Amino acid sequence: MNQEELQSLCIEAGESKFRGGQLFEWMYRHGISSFDSMSNVNKSFREHLNEHFIIQTLAVENQFPSKEDKSVKILFRTHDGHFIETVSMVDKNRHTVCLSSQVGCALDCHFCATGKMGLKRNLSTGEIVDQLIYVRESIDQSITNVVFMGMGEPFHNYDNVLNASDIFHSPKGFNLASTRITISTVGLLPQINQFIKEKRRYKLAISLNASNDKVRSEIMPINKKWSIVDLVNAGKEYSNQKKRLIMFEYVLLKGINDSEEDALELARLLQGIPCKINLIPYNEIEGKYQRPDESTITKFSEILHNYRDEYRVLVRWSKGQDIAAGCGQLAGQNG
Ligand code: SAH
Repeated sequence: MNQEELQSLCIEAGESKFRGGQLFEWMYRHGISSFDSMSNVNKSFREHLNEHFIIQTLAVENQFPSKEDKSVKILFRTHDGHFIETVSMVDKNRHTVCLSSQVGCALDCHFCATGKMGLKRNLSTGEIVDQLIYVRESIDQSITNVVFMGMGEPFHNYDNVLNASDIFHSPKGFNLASTRITISTVGLLPQINQFIKEKRRYKLAISLNASNDKVRSEIMPINKKWSIVDLVNAGKEYSNQKKRLIMFEYVLLKGINDSEEDALELARLLQGIPCKINLIPYNEIEGKYQRPDESTITKFSEILHNYRDEYRVLVRWSKGQDIAAGCGQLAGQNG
């Protein structure tokens, strides 16, 4: 529940609106997981809350700390027996938490493990927020960044993802700046346009993954709905409206989209678009795709750099490879 929902709950129960703000702070700023610890809330109202509501909704099923870096994958069980995964990644002073927005995913991008599960259901706002509360309580480094790059398509669960983001952003909640919250979408055009119109200024990433419609449609069935040029233009609109750079993600798949011609075509496609490019070397899962070798990855990135030096091109080496916690490897499995 957000602050307004908590306020209505209080008013309905004959309490003041002000109480709603107190509940909000107890849960989201202080991470209190029991109504009985809310010392400024009267006893009879605490009893009412205990009777009718729960604070924690996810149970921790398992945790997988990486042996190679400081990342941890957490497997949660939902109240109705589904499994979702969250990844905490610590790198010096930066602590990024990768959140899931759905159980599974409907999109079926051919290179992604989550896509193979199909969609089970959306996560509630509470289930999204609970992931972050757990990481904050269990990992001893303050959270600096949140990315919706775990399981699911965040824009297929638009309201709950944005509701949760608002709780992360609120000074009475997690107090994260809007630049510290990134939503990554497969490229659902209507939702991108809706988001551009919003006041909210969270960072947006679009998974391009190809430089033309032919290749993109082969690896991402959703591309049959909106063309790559439409997405690039929507990205440009985002950058212009929000005064923030759109990020384009590009998973590098050996022999599919990693050639020098592909790099040049991408550079041309993005010419004049204020953007950042994140190249993601493919994290292998079962199936036919492979990661290109390092020299191909370097070459691809150099071509983009050289084409126009104002591009910010970054190669994103996923953390937690040994615990299958990299981009696209999350599938809610225990073991
Ligand atoms: N549904 C959202 C979030 C997905 S995960 C989206 O599509 O953007 C975040 C990124 O990981 C996406 O850019 C996705 O294309 C990429 N990805 C998926 N599977 C991958 C894999 N096996 N290796 C590397 N990146 C992958």
